[in-house]
Amino acid sequence: MIDSANPLTYPYDKAPAPAKLTEVAPGVYWTQMPLPMSLNHINLYLVEGKYGWTVVDTGIRGPETRALWLKLFENELRGKPIDQVICTHMHPDHTGQAGFISEHWHAPLMMSFMEYYQARVLNTMMHEGATWQMTEYFSRAGIDSSFLEEMAGEAGNFKPDLEDRPLPTSFVRISDGEKLQIGDHEWLVITGAGHSPDHVCLYCKELRILLSGDQILPVITSNVSVQPTEPFANPLMDYLDSHDKFKKLVANDTLVLPAHNEPFYGLHERLQQLLEHHEDRMLLLEETCIEPQKAVDLLPHLFKRKLETYSLFMGLGECIAHLHCLMDRNRIERTLENEVYLYRSIDPSLATRAHPGQHEEPDDSPMMV
Ligand SMILES: [Zn+2]
Repeated sequence: MIDSANPLTYPYDKAPAPAKLTEVAPGVYWTQMPLPMSLNHINLYLVEGKYGWTVVDTGIRGPETRALWLKLFENELRGKPIDQVICTHMHPDHTGQAGFISEHWHAPLMMSFMEYYQARVLNTMMHEGATWQMTEYFSRAGIDSSFLEEMAGEAGNFKPDLEDRPLPTSFVRISDGEKLQIGDHEWLVITGAGHSPDHVCLYCKELRILLSGDQILPVITSNVSVQPTEPFANPLMDYLDSHDKFKKLVANDTLVLPAHNEPFYGLHERLQQLLEHHEDRMLLLEETCIEPQKAVDLLPHLFKRKLETYSLFMGLGECIAHLHCLMDRNRIERTLENEVYLYRSIDPSLATRAHPGQHEEPDDSPMMV
C-alpha cells in the first residue's frame, strides 16, 4: 500500500452499477464485476466499433458474473454483437468468462501466446496435488508440510459450475509492438512481465487511454511472485524492467484504466511509487537479514495480517521474489542448512544505505489473484 499523500488523481468518484457501462472516453466503457475474495471486484472494459464491440477481460467463472454479462448484453450493446474478446493475461479473474463470451457471440479470443497457453494449463496445475518439487519449495522456505494438506483441502472445495465454458480451443495471437484496430482507433500492444509472463496492455495514443490490466494498479500493488512451478525465477526484476518501457511509450497525461481500483491519471508518478515501494521492501529485507533468516520468518515484516492458506501462498511468493531480486544484485546470499534456505545480507554498502524504522508499514491491502 502506498501512502495517501498521493499525486494520482481519480476522475470518477463511483464505480459503474452492476451490468452497466460508464463511458470513460469516446467509445470506451468501464464496467465492474464482483470477485469472491478480499479483492472484491474486477474492472472490465468494452470498446464500441461501428459494427460491434471489443471486450477487454471477462471476469471470474461462475453463474453470478455470467448473469451480469447476459444482462449487459441485453441492455447496453445497442443491438451490436461482441466481435472480439481480449484477455490481458492468464489469471482466472480475467479469463474466467472468455469461453462463455466467445461461444455466445462466436467471437475470437485474442491473447499473447504465453498467456493463452499458461491459462490453458493453469487448471490442470491446480489439481496436480503435492509433488516433491512443491513440498521442497515450501519446506525450504521453512513451512511445515501440513500447509500443503490445507491447500489441497481448499482446492478440493472448488467445484466448477457445469455451465462454465473452458477457454476457447483456438485464439488469435497478439504480440508486443503490434497495432490493433479496436473501435474507431488504433491501439498499440505493450506487454509487461513480472505479474504474469507476457501481460498485454493496450495504449491508444489518440484517445490518451492505457488499458493496464494488472500490470499497473493505482492503490494495491500487483502480486509479483515466485511460485513452485519455477522456484528460481526472478519476476521482480522483470516487473521493474517493464516500467521503463511504459514510461518511454505512454504519455503521462494518459487516463489509465486498471483491472482493479479505479481509473487514474499519473502513470509516471505511479511507476515511480511502485519502484520506490519495491526498493523499500528490498532494503527492509536486507536490514532484517543481517542475521540469517528463513523466508517464512520474513513475512511479518512485509505483511500486517497473519497469512493463511492461499494468502500465505501468495505472500510467500512475493517475499521470495524480493529475495531473488536481491540475490541477483549480490546483496543477499542464500545457503541451504538442514534442508531450509537461510538468507543473509552480504553487501558492504548496506550500513550506509540502511535506515531502520523508516520503512513503509507492513502491507495490509487485499491479496491479489
Ligand atoms: Zn492477474
